[in-house]
Amino acid sequence: MTTRISHQPEIQQFFRQAAGLDNAGGNPRNKEIVLRILKETARIIEDLQITDDEFWAGVSYLNRLGGSNEAGLLVAGLGVEHFIDLLADARDEASGVSGGTPRTIEGPLYVAGAPLSEGEARMDDGSEDGVATVMFLEGRVLDLQGNPIAGATVDLWQADTKGNYSYFDKSQSDFNLRRRILTDAEGRYRARSIVPSGYGCDPAGPTQACLDQLGRHGQRPAHVHFFISAPGFEHLTTQINLSNDDHLWDDFAYATRDGLIGEIRFTEDPAQSAKRNVEGRFAEMSFDFQLRPARSEQATQRSQRPRALQA
Ligand code: FE
Repeated sequence: MTTRISHQPEIQQFFRQAAGLDNAGGNPRNKEIVLRILKETARIIEDLQITDDEFWAGVSYLNRLGGSNEAGLLVAGLGVEHFIDLLADARDEASGVSGGTPRTIEGPLYVAGAPLSEGEARMDDGSEDGVATVMFLEGRVLDLQGNPIAGATVDLWQADTKGNYSYFDKSQSDFNLRRRILTDAEGRYRARSIVPSGYGCDPAGPTQACLDQLGRHGQRPAHVHFFISAPGFEHLTTQINLSNDDHLWDDFAYATRDGLIGEIRFTEDPAQSAKRNVEGRFAEMSFDFQLRPARSEQATQRSQRPRALQA
């Protein structure tokens, strides 16, 4: 049996040097991570007999990915972001933590600092009036015993009818379809919004180019993203995926989970429309969130992931 070149002691030593393990500077944790990446990369190149052309095509792809700002999209599309959720679920279970609304991926399109209001908000700027279907979204934030959590922050963001997000789509007004709502004394939040559209990866972008090579589509069902937080409770990153979408269980980013389906109801009744002060057909969706008690101050906070407009 021949030993793989990548496993030979002198090669292993070479990579330890390349990862800075033979010097006292730098960051030990990052050295450990880089060493592992180098070792695994060498194994892949050797075991899969990666050709020079394949290797340099991969390097070029990384440049294209970064240049298009799509690395956050690719990690969602390849299921790595979902895996991080599954890992967190398994760790919770192993430490006896259970209950509450399931977590699911954040995705790369959050923008910090959306307008803050108490109890209710209108999410859209009215620019799609007559095109979009008005959606009334409401629900409560509860603890595991079903008691309301007053003053919880419901930070939500969604796409417009074209499947685009404000800030990233410069044709939309600032913070369109992005709001933070503080729950009232009954733990309730209310939003007047529009029915979001599902969306797909840029067909000309590097993420879709990768998915094409895998024979996969890059489509997501319509959904609304949420960060839910309150003092003393675990921060929750999640999404409601709309029940009527064909891609509900065929999401390229694997964000749809049991317990995160929003039952959307459409109403055509003119009397109901008049009562709601809207023209014609509208939609309603109710969704309650349950938060788990936090076991540390850190657990009350979202990750430090770099985000748009973060202070
Ligand atoms: Fe999204």
